[in-house]
Amino acid sequence: MSRLNRIVVVGASLAGLRAVQALRREGFDGEVTLVGAETHVPYNRPPLSKSVLHGDDDVTLPGAEELGDQWLRGRQAVRLDARDRTVTLDDGTGIGYDGLVIASGARPRRLDGVHALRTLEDALALRAELESGHEHVLVIGGGFIGGEVASTARQLGRKVTLVDSAPYPMYSGLGEEASRWLAGHHERNGVELITNVRVTAVDGGQVRLGDGRTIAADLVVGGMGVLPNTEWLDGSGLAVDDGVLCEPTLFAAKSADIVAAGDVARWPHGLFGGEMVRVEHWSNANEQGAVAARNLLAGPEDAQPFVDVPNFATHVHGARVQTAGLPHLADAASIATGSPEEDRFAVAFSRHGVLVGAVVVNSPKDLIKLKRAITARESV
Ligand SMILES: Cc1cc2nc3c(=O)[nH]c(=O)nc-3n(C[C@H](O)[C@H](O)[C@H](O)COP(=O)(O)OP(=O)(O)OC[C@H]3O[C@@H](n4cnc5c(N)ncnc54)[C@H](O)[C@@H]3O)c2cc1C
Repeated sequence: MSRLNRIVVVGASLAGLRAVQALRREGFDGEVTLVGAETHVPYNRPPLSKSVLHGDDDVTLPGAEELGDQWLRGRQAVRLDARDRTVTLDDGTGIGYDGLVIASGARPRRLDGVHALRTLEDALALRAELESGHEHVLVIGGGFIGGEVASTARQLGRKVTLVDSAPYPMYSGLGEEASRWLAGHHERNGVELITNVRVTAVDGGQVRLGDGRTIAADLVVGGMGVLPNTEWLDGSGLAVDDGVLCEPTLFAAKSADIVAAGDVARWPHGLFGGEMVRVEHWSNANEQGAVAARNLLAGPEDAQPFVDVPNFATHVHGARVQTAGLPHLADAASIATGSPEEDRFAVAFSRHGVLVGAVVVNSPKDLIKLKRAITARESV
């Protein structure tokens, strides 16, 4: 028998939905209230920077149809009183809980005059702009969202400039070899790449760079990273530092009735020496939502640590780039198969001789093998 009767889930996207589904699957028959700031049925974000920009509106998230009537859409949690176990909403309503799942995700850094891409509304607005015939698109930030937007804009025949502050796009996530390949891949597909420089201001289509240059663009899109949505936890007593700080089991630090999951959660990863990580990938939110909910029901004593190996894929100008593990932790990297010249290769990343990450270009089978080897903590 669960010791919980009322569970509140804040954030009605991937992690929140998977938490609600897991609660029901585990036989929890108490009250579940899902609070979501967006008005939509939970939807899938990866298509927003891919198929949606090409005109396909399908963003269905399987399982969203299972949500019952204990779902408050268009309502934001503005405060948590962890001692009284109450979540306060933006209309002043207080909801009591015995167990709380924090799944409030992340939001993009936004700049005036720059399109961001996080929500369905963002994607539809950007699509309308791309379709309206703007000639020159400038993308700030060469991460996966910036890269996918640049790729889509090229496919639509636009002139594209990509500005990144690192030596190569996705430098920190992919490492030297693969990010250098990605830079070349962008350029071979007609993207003008400007690297090692920051955008300092955007003023009505005039984009100013740190080296003094100004570039005129018809449309400016930003992929400048995200910030975890934790402001509503201010004053709650929960430890927050670039996300909700959690135990290995996803219980909020020192809490026995609050768990966190998805883009908002930061926890010590058992497979990587307890390194504190916050992962902004689909599969992480997908798995963590369910594990956090199961652990909440089990209680801290019987909870299982979350040790899944992070993995991620992006599509850029027809190439598939995948990562597994945490390449940025590595002290050594080497090409495991193929070569960048063939546009098909895998890079293995190790720390103290143990495999900690992999980056794979156009070779999904290698990713499966390397991910297994990372899970097994194989030596290189
Ligand atoms: C354009 C785009 C493309 C992507 N492509 C990929 C990809 O190819 N591969 C990949 O692995 N990942 C991709 N991702 C990342 C992936 O979508 C995220 O990791 C995932 O959505 C995280 O889910 P989440 O539920 O943790 O958070 P979110 O999806 O951020 O959802 C959080 C929800 O909580 C709501 N919320 C926030 N604060 C409150 C509050 N106080 N009260 C109530 N509700 C609140 C928000 O409105 C939001 O609906 C992409 C993301 C974007 C934006």
